[in-house]
Amino acid sequence: MPDKVVTRFAPSPTGFLHIGGARTALFNWLYAKHTGGIMLLRIEDTDRERSTDAATAAILDGLSWLGLTWDGEPVSQFERAPRHREVAEELVRMGKAYYSYETPAELEAMREAARAKGLPPRYNGQWRDRAPSEAPAGVKGAIRIKAPTEGETVVHDRVQGEVRFPNKDLDDFIILRSDGNPTYMHAVVVDDHDMGVTHIIRGDDHLTNAARQTVIYRAMGWDVPSMSHIPLIHGADGAKLSKRHGALGVEAYRAMGYLPEALLNYLARLGWSHGDDEIMSIKDMISWFDIGDVNKGAARFDFAKLEALNGVHMRRMSDAELFDIFIATLPYLEGGPAMATRLDDRNKAQLLAALPGLKERAKTLVELVDGAAFLFATRPLPIDDKAALLLNDDARKILRGAHDALNAVSGDWTAAAAEAAIRDYAQAGGHKLGAVAQPLRAALTGKSTSPGVFDVLAVLGREESLARIADQID
Ligand code: GLU
Repeated sequence: MPDKVVTRFAPSPTGFLHIGGARTALFNWLYAKHTGGIMLLRIEDTDRERSTDAATAAILDGLSWLGLTWDGEPVSQFERAPRHREVAEELVRMGKAYYSYETPAELEAMREAARAKGLPPRYNGQWRDRAPSEAPAGVKGAIRIKAPTEGETVVHDRVQGEVRFPNKDLDDFIILRSDGNPTYMHAVVVDDHDMGVTHIIRGDDHLTNAARQTVIYRAMGWDVPSMSHIPLIHGADGAKLSKRHGALGVEAYRAMGYLPEALLNYLARLGWSHGDDEIMSIKDMISWFDIGDVNKGAARFDFAKLEALNGVHMRRMSDAELFDIFIATLPYLEGGPAMATRLDDRNKAQLLAALPGLKERAKTLVELVDGAAFLFATRPLPIDDKAALLLNDDARKILRGAHDALNAVSGDWTAAAAEAAIRDYAQAGGHKLGAVAQPLRAALTGKSTSPGVFDVLAVLGREESLARIADQID
């Protein structure tokens, strides 16, 4: 057992960091943190057609937003191509790999012939034992690994258990193409070995690759790292995750107003659990996580659960902490940029004061934007449909009286002072408290729901409150 755990996250930069990739990164990160090890980052940009710098930037941004830090500089797989070539050639020298010289058309004919005989379309190994002197002149060959033909290759997987692959099903696959470029299968092995990776944690769609990669490790005489293939995420209905189910880039989750900590908590519990603990801080996850405890079965992604969990994390957070995250995230949130441009010291202070009431009613930061909109509204306020229903003629009469009662408050303008004035007024006029509070809320916020109306009065201040009420009675 090596003394230090080294994990790695190895995304292909062909798109955003999607939610499944974020979970893979999280499990690598948690395992590294839990064991006092490190997590490396390798950008698998060997496919030049599909890899983009924009995707790499989006992946780094997504990981940073989630707080999934990596150790050292990200490694570019493409830049390591000379080393991949070197190892492939070394395998040839060692007699563990060989050059093959078929044209694409010949390979296709070989596959056709196998299919016609009802066999799987595999390479027939025709160059495996031929002398290099027989090589056709002027043709650059592709290097193929000499895969074992008998027995089985066993992957000792900490999640999937012992998975056995009959060697007759593995053919002599290509490790270096005739153009000198490594295949993905080969590059991953060389990189993981050279980077000192001790634990591979990735999606179970790579399980069969693990068998082929094991063949390369053995051929080089290298130790096979510990393997953990984690189940993919499915939608709430059990089908493969699609956009509709939440197969979005993590930046979409940021825009929807989820907290990194809540999203990580949710992702960690997709396929892993710790007793009945549902709410976990990052510290909890680090101290409790073990890769061997991850389930084999597919995990189901459920937006409603994520949302509920996010609400819990928001309420658990101190107001100051939530305020900082809210302000930092505002430019990314749906409806946030407009609010961000209007932030000044005054409404920042109002926001902080209103936060205890606002966060009781919000499950996401977007709902917080919505709830806080009244602080940023300019008079006369737009009144939404539900609020308009609360401002009928009778209600406006009551509102007029409420205005006068509030106008008469002589001491400090506080929630308690406003409440006392309104209660006295309601009692004297024989109104139920709700009959006064409802139209007040509508006039002050333009909405039918808001934090407690006395808190709203206090946060808005005397002058603005009275002016907003007056707007609705004249
Ligand atoms: N680049 C691969 C992917 O994005 C991961 C390969 C690996 O983890 O070995 O799926």
